[in-house]
Amino acid sequence: MSPRRPLVAGNWKMNGSAEFVQNFAAELVDRVVEDAVSVIVFPPAAYLGTLVRALEGCAIEVGGQNAHTEAAGAFTGEVAPEMVADLGGRWLLVGHSERRQYFGETDDLIADKFAAALRAGLAPVLCVGETLEEREAGEAEGVVCRQLLAVTQRLDIAQVALGVVAYEPVWAIGTGWTATPDQAQEMHRVIRAALSEQDAKLAEGMRILYGGSVNADNAGELMAQPDIDGGLVGGASLSAEGFAAIVAAAAGR
Ligand code: PEP
Repeated sequence: MSPRRPLVAGNWKMNGSAEFVQNFAAELVDRVVEDAVSVIVFPPAAYLGTLVRALEGCAIEVGGQNAHTEAAGAFTGEVAPEMVADLGGRWLLVGHSERRQYFGETDDLIADKFAAALRAGLAPVLCVGETLEEREAGEAEGVVCRQLLAVTQRLDIAQVALGVVAYEPVWAIGTGWTATPDQAQEMHRVIRAALSEQDAKLAEGMRILYGGSVNADNAGELMAQPDIDGGLVGGASLSAEGFAAIVAAAAGR
């Protein structure tokens, strides 16, 4: 049996409303009965505090989808990781492909955000993944390892160990094309091997999530793979019923 506790995280992206938060939280609390799985929801920053309050008293945790690297200052429109923590957030997504693609986030900036999350007491979820062109050009492993090591080699092993890695092939995000369990397992194995070159214990303990069109139907097979420790779920996390079914699949892995 894996020494790693499974983790299922939902990324709502820029979706939701105050009413949605209340309904979702009430339904999720009713449906999620697995205490063997860590469950996190990443709502838009505007609803973070509301969701934390709606989930008060249960084990489901909340995180921010993005934050600035600084703790405060003249950065109009930005949110500091300390503010995410102040609202009750415990986690921070860093390096999501939509941030890399639409907001020009570089490996260096993502490493800074990973460190900023830790400074604020948040656990970072580092997203890595190749595009379809990169996969077709045979560059997938190189790209993923570059994105991973740009962060992990800049920090102490003990700091890296506080985070989680999510492998999210860009071609599978929001497209309905999931990596096959074999494709996903192979990249997770590569990620763990790259971490192992830095530190064997780090690699063994690191939770590596798969993301990219995960749903209640495919979650079980993906999560049965030996190096897949859970999922980062976008579209399917907007239904409490569907998301809870993915959590149940993770519990059965
Ligand atoms: C994501 O946004 O991280 C994601 C994996 O999205 P989806 O599940 O919709 O592909």
